[in-house]
Amino acid sequence: MKYYSTNHQAPVANLRKAVVKGLAEDRGLYMPEEIYKLPQAFIDDMPAMRFQDIAYNVASQFFGDDVDLDGLQDLVYDTLSFDCPVVKVKDNIYSLELFHGPTLAFKDVGARFMARLLQYFIRGERKGETVNVLVATSGDTGSAVANGFLGVDGIDVYVLYPKGKVSPIQECQFTTLGRNITAIEVDGVFDDCQRLVKSAFMDEELNRHMKLTSANSINVARFLPQAFYYFNAYARLKALGLDNLVMCVPSGNFGNICAALFGHQMGLPVKRFIAANNANDVFYNYLLTGRYEPKPSKQTLANAMDVGDPSNFARIINLYSQDGKLSPEETHRRITSLISGATYSDEQIREAMRSCYAETGYILDPHGACGYRALQEQLQPSEVGVFCETAHPAKFKEKVDEILGIDIDIPERLAAFMRGEKQSVNIPNDFEAFKAFLMNA
Ligand SMILES: *Cc1c(COP(=O)(O)O)cnc(C)c1O
Repeated sequence: MKYYSTNHQAPVANLRKAVVKGLAEDRGLYMPEEIYKLPQAFIDDMPAMRFQDIAYNVASQFFGDDVDLDGLQDLVYDTLSFDCPVVKVKDNIYSLELFHGPTLAFKDVGARFMARLLQYFIRGERKGETVNVLVATSGDTGSAVANGFLGVDGIDVYVLYPKGKVSPIQECQFTTLGRNITAIEVDGVFDDCQRLVKSAFMDEELNRHMKLTSANSINVARFLPQAFYYFNAYARLKALGLDNLVMCVPSGNFGNICAALFGHQMGLPVKRFIAANNANDVFYNYLLTGRYEPKPSKQTLANAMDVGDPSNFARIINLYSQDGKLSPEETHRRITSLISGATYSDEQIREAMRSCYAETGYILDPHGACGYRALQEQLQPSEVGVFCETAHPAKFKEKVDEILGIDIDIPERLAAFMRGEKQSVNIPNDFEAFKAFLMNA
């Protein structure tokens, strides 16, 4: 499979390059040149298949040309060492629980897959040379990437985060790991961390000295595997005799819903999609007006969705404009015929958490609450709604406890991180200091 850039000014790349580079030379996002339809026989058989086997079949459509099938199977099975179950919340509304992985959020799936795919590509070539992954985080990405790569041979990870700006629960998920993970605490804000990482990729001396790569969320190896659990959700509900599905995805950078839309292009039988947003409403407004007007992000209760210019918007446009061949109006018409939107204030998020808990006993986190509320408001009587519960509510314990007036249990795997000892390196907000640290690492 070849991958082209959404900006069309860069050469096409093979999978290896798309994964190692992340972003194309023209700063566009890589898109697969083809999206193969899955055979109808596979769609029909899915309800009787296990999650890992469904995922392997989906993965082979994308990665089967570039990764040998045995290797790909190992990679998929090893990535999905935890389940993504579909849980009934109330009549016609189901929660696709994506928080059963190591860091209790859906980003575990993509991060684990990417770590293993990168390892697959570097194994054997330039023996003994370590690949260094640099990642800047404002909280959740760092933990998913660090844990995804933890213990993966031949790869060292450096997580840069702003000192004092991530929550203690988030911090312990990447500072207590040790082994091939180094946490670097920067005297600055998130944007400073991102700037240090970008400067490192540009620095010739540093790149001669060590092999650097990034693991940001727009990487094809992080976003495409998210399609796996949408196929599995369909299969589990179909096995219960349920059909006519509406998938509702709490969205920020739109990677997760983009993977669902790729799944739909491959033949996943979902009737329509809802993109549920917090107060950051640029996609919602695009659906209403046909105009895309990025804005600075607003801070909300569902902070992992505080994005004012979602990177994967370009992928969605490419998907429905047939790679720019259709007019903006026709593209917008196609998108709005399949996807509807929703935008909620913090108060509306709180209301959704409270009413769901009072009515059903199910505890939503603030992100999943946007999805639940959108289904409550938009689901038709003949439809079955599934929303993604994108993180475990205990990751936002203080907020959830306060909103619901409860004392939510902390799952053991989260508690284990909190017992660990914090290990991090403190550096000033200065590229020369960061470079010197890497040169001597
Ligand atoms: C990252 C994240 C989201 C947003 O997902 P996108 O793929 O960026 O749209 C939603 N909820 C949680 C908990 C997240 O960590």
